[in-house]
Amino acid sequence: MNTSTSSTSAAASASGALPRIAVLATGGTIAGSAADVTNTSGYQAGVVGVERLLEAVPALSGVAQIRPEQIAGVDSKDMALALWTTLAQRINVLLASDDIDGVVITHGTDTLEETAYLLHLTVKGTKPVVLTAAMRPASALSADGPLNLLNAVTVAASAAAHGQGVLVAFNNRIHSARDVVKTSTYAVDAFQSPEIGALGWVQDGRVEFQRKVVRAHTVATEFVIGANWPNVEIVTSYAGASRLGVDALVAAGVRGIVVAGTGNGSIHASIQQALADAATQGVAVVRSSRVGSGHVMRNGAAADDVLGFVSAGSLNPYKARVLLMLALAAGATGAVALQTIFDKY
Ligand code: ASP
Repeated sequence: MNTSTSSTSAAASASGALPRIAVLATGGTIAGSAADVTNTSGYQAGVVGVERLLEAVPALSGVAQIRPEQIAGVDSKDMALALWTTLAQRINVLLASDDIDGVVITHGTDTLEETAYLLHLTVKGTKPVVLTAAMRPASALSADGPLNLLNAVTVAASAAAHGQGVLVAFNNRIHSARDVVKTSTYAVDAFQSPEIGALGWVQDGRVEFQRKVVRAHTVATEFVIGANWPNVEIVTSYAGASRLGVDALVAAGVRGIVVAGTGNGSIHASIQQALADAATQGVAVVRSSRVGSGHVMRNGAAADDVLGFVSAGSLNPYKARVLLMLALAAGATGAVALQTIFDKY
């Protein structure tokens, strides 16, 4: 079904004023600076403040009334759970405010897909929430951050973005937070939604959606952001693997383990036995895949039912970890209840 909708109009057009968009800066390469303009790998992330990021994009004044906030200045490889709590709680305050029409978050690319999915499941509102980032630092020749920021604000200011869950605007495309993943270490076209594709695009001030998100998000989830983060870790399956890693995690008291399996979530026999033992001790075990595209089918009688495992469906291991943490924090227990949650979100 083609659900194409497009919009160039502002969300708060009733009064004729431009929409009021909060821009929350958290760091990343978009706020990175290097000693010279040709340096796009040896730079410091997260050092350029939000005011300077906005100054680099004068065209923003024709799109929205910007309300900047510096939330953090981190390289997103170091994203912390406490910062997730701070960010989501602040977005919830802004979404509830009559003075704000949408929210943009500038972020590093490295863990953007995890933060985006976390927000998709925990922010409460139908106003647009849009993340963006950059592959080249602010100081670089042909920096991609300024156009990505302009496009993110344009999406957040558009009526068409309402009720679409958390979005990622990057390199002219609009992705759902649930589906988007980083797929390149260096290219400016670094994000894709494998199998599914982008929701739409933004170009020259025009926002166009081609499809809608169908899985539950934002106001339709049972998840509430808090400071309680159950310890969930990720292990990978590979040739010649041993059970050492899983046993160490269980001994350390983890509540859950996501396994980045081979292929369709298959697991080396050594790790699988260790995970089966972990499950009998009450550790939640979720099977995802290291492949990067496709989904992990529940394998029922072959293993999941027998061993008490949960399949992650089309969530990659990093997003599956986010969902498992939220599910455990919400009080879900047991493979049946957890599988219902994974099937829903
Ligand atoms: N290390 C950076 C970060 O994620 C990379 C980037 O933003 O592209 O913060």
